[in-house]
Amino acid sequence: MPAVIALLTASALAADPLVDVRTAVPDAVLDVRYATERNILGRAVYPRAAAFLRRSTAAKLAKAADALRARGLRLVIYDAYRPLSVQRLLWKAKPDARYVADPARGSAHNRGAAVDVGLADEAGRALEMPSPFDDFGPRAAHGAAGVPPAAAARGAELKAAMEAAGFSSLREEWWHYKDPAAKDWPLLDVPLEDIR
Ligand SMILES: [Zn+2]
Repeated sequence: MPAVIALLTASALAADPLVDVRTAVPDAVLDVRYATERNILGRAVYPRAAAFLRRSTAAKLAKAADALRARGLRLVIYDAYRPLSVQRLLWKAKPDARYVADPARGSAHNRGAAVDVGLADEAGRALEMPSPFDDFGPRAAHGAAGVPPAAAARGAELKAAMEAAGFSSLREEWWHYKDPAAKDWPLLDVPLEDIR
């Protein structure tokens, strides 16, 4: 990384660091698929099941979680900050810009500003959503046909809470939400092992 970019990145991170999602949302249910074999790569690429976001984005997630908690729901976190090196692995496995961001441009995940979420009940049991996470197909889209009504309603409830908290949604993926403030934030390749 060129020295000047590294310096700008360091100062951006000093002002708005990557924080553990559970500091903002203590009851979040972690189901971090890239720490397991249950992902499109079929192997673990994160050293542990942990989720990080820029602090200002995590504060928005806390707002969504508060609204959902009042309705007896908890957030499930599938992914949050994703190092750029992992983005390159995903792109190699699925070079389709509808579902995976080209690492040359980067994803809001690489900026610590996107989060993949589902819903669980108060006991932390995952609830059926419109499709499985990372199921890259028509059922993953918002408002897709053929989705059981209860699952479709949960997808809509999640979207309403996330958008009210300041996130924007992606048409093709019911689980993906990004913080629009991140547009000009740097792409990061801080290894997860290095985040305290
Ligand atoms: Zn995502």
